[in-house]
Amino acid sequence: MQPAYSFSAASGPLPAAVAEQVAEACRPGFGSILGLPFTSPDFHRLQAETEACLRRLLAIPDDFHVLFMAGGASVQFALLPLNLLDGQGHAAYVDSGHWARRAIAEARRFGRIEAIPAAALGTGAFPLDQATYCHLTSNETADGLQWHDWPALPAPLAADMSSDFLTRPVDWQRVAVAYAGTQKSIGTPGLTVVIARAALLRGAQPGTPGVMDYLAQARAASRLCTPPVFPIFVAHRMLHWIESRGGIPAMARRLALRHARVEAALDAAGGLYRQRHPRTWRSRVTTCFHLPDAALTGAFIESAEAAGLHHLRGHPEIGGIRISLYNGLDDGAVDALSGFLGRFAERHADTGLAACR
Ligand code: PMP
Repeated sequence: MQPAYSFSAASGPLPAAVAEQVAEACRPGFGSILGLPFTSPDFHRLQAETEACLRRLLAIPDDFHVLFMAGGASVQFALLPLNLLDGQGHAAYVDSGHWARRAIAEARRFGRIEAIPAAALGTGAFPLDQATYCHLTSNETADGLQWHDWPALPAPLAADMSSDFLTRPVDWQRVAVAYAGTQKSIGTPGLTVVIARAALLRGAQPGTPGVMDYLAQARAASRLCTPPVFPIFVAHRMLHWIESRGGIPAMARRLALRHARVEAALDAAGGLYRQRHPRTWRSRVTTCFHLPDAALTGAFIESAEAAGLHHLRGHPEIGGIRISLYNGLDDGAVDALSGFLGRFAERHADTGLAACR
C-alpha cells in the first residue's frame, strides 16, 4: 500500500514511534493516560519530566517560568497584554503577516498597541525604548515568512513560536516570553506552552480570570485548574523523541536539509511554481507557492492526494499551495513530495514555460 503523508499547517504528524507509545498508553483500564488524575504523583512526575526536558532542549534559564496552559495560541493573544501591560504602558507589535495581525487585533482589546511594519523594525522609524514589550511572530504560518534571527531590540521580545517551536535555538537574552501551541511541533491540540522571564510577571490586569494570570499559574505549577493532561503526555513523548534524535541542533540541521530539497524541487520546475517572497524571508518550516491559475492549482492538489500527499492547500486568505515541514514529519514524506513536485512539473512543462514568458 502507498504511504500517505500530511503536510498540514494546522497540526503536525506524530512520528510513528511516538504514535505507538501514545496508542499503547490509551489502552483501556486502570492506568490509561486518558484517566490520569492531574492531582496524582504520576502526573506530577510526568509534568516535571516534560518541563525538565523542554528546559534542557531549549537551554531555558532558571529565571524563566514554564507554564502549561489550556487552549490554543490564540488565547495567548489576549493573555499577553492582560499579563504584561498595566494601565500605563504600551506594547509594540511587528506586523509581518496574517498571524501577527490576528495577535494585534486581539491585543488591542486589552491594551495600547502600536503596530510596526516588519520592514521598519530596527530602522529607528518606530522607537521601541518606551514599549513594555515587542511582539513578534517568529514563523508566519499562513504567509510562509520567518524571522531567521532574533532581533536585538531595546524592548523585551515576546514571540509567538507556534509554527517553528523546537526547530531552532532561542536566544533568551533577547526573547523574554515565548509561547507556542503544541499541535504543530510537539504533539496534539489543547495545550500552549508559555515560557516567560519571571521578572516580567507582576500579576495580571484587574478583571483577568484567575486561571489566566501567568504569575498565579506559575505559583501553582500550572495546576490552578486541571491542565491538559493528555497533550502534556504527548508533548512529554515528543520532547524525549527530539532529545533522542540529537535535540535542537539535529532538528535544525534536518529542517535545513529538507527545506533545501523542497526549494531545489521548486526551482527546477521551469517557472511552474512561483514563490512570492525573497529567499532571505522564506520560512524553512512553511513553504508557500502559487501555480499559474486556479485550474492548475486544483489539478496539483488532486494529483498530490492521489499520490498520498495530503493537506497541501494554501491558507484560505493566501491561496496556492503550502508545505509544512514540522518536526514529526517522516523523512519518506519529503522524498515523496520532492519526487511528486518534479513529476508534476514535467507533465505541465509547457504551462510553466508559457507562464514565464
Ligand atoms: N499563531 C500562529 C503562528 C499560528 O500558526 C496559529 C495557528 N495556525 C496560531 C497562532 C493560532 O493557534 P490556535 O488555533 O491553536 O489558537
